[in-house]
Amino acid sequence: MVAATALGLCACDSDHVHVYGQEVIREATCYSEGEVRLVCLECGDVRTIVMPIVPHSFTVWEVVTEVTCNEDGLWKRRCTMCGLQQTGEIPARGHDWGEWEIQEATCEMSGLMVHKCTRCEETEARIIGALGHLFDTAFTIDKHPTKTQDGQRSRHCLRPGCNAVTDVEIIHRLGGD
Ligand SMILES: [Zn+2]
Ligand SMILES: [Zn+2]
Ligand SMILES: [Zn+2]
Ligand SMILES: [Zn+2]
Repeated sequence: MVAATALGLCACDSDHVHVYGQEVIREATCYSEGEVRLVCLECGDVRTIVMPIVPHSFTVWEVVTEVTCNEDGLWKRRCTMCGLQQTGEIPARGHDWGEWEIQEATCEMSGLMVHKCTRCEETEARIIGALGHLFDTAFTIDKHPTKTQDGQRSRHCLRPGCNAVTDVEIIHRLGGD
């Protein structure tokens, strides 16, 4: 490639205006500087111009491995000039847990909390321990004594839906023999 370029700035010993021919010695690449030599077509004055390194010209990022909740994703791109490949990791996103679904514990049975990821099929469960009975401190008369029959009293569990009793005691019949 030779082109004539007129540069009128010369104040050197000859009194003509240099008319340079331009010759590319080495193209600039992504890795190395280029070099262009200017030679005056009239007096042979030589100048060398260094062409700066050019930036890589990358393709757009392409997905190699899709990122998921558990696994990192991988992207890559390539320089169309020098072939350099770059990869980029996208960190795993972690699960996006939905609302807890709760199966309540009772006095004797443990309960369960379950939630599910909105993006994948992963579920996570936690056990809620059985509550244990909550017995009333006061006695309830289960059966009133009569003159002929003994009665009964006990302490009842206060939790709704539970029929458990403790400390069952006889209340002796009234009146005696
Ligand atoms: Zn010249
Ligand atoms: Zn490159
Ligand atoms: Zn998930
Ligand atoms: Zn209970």
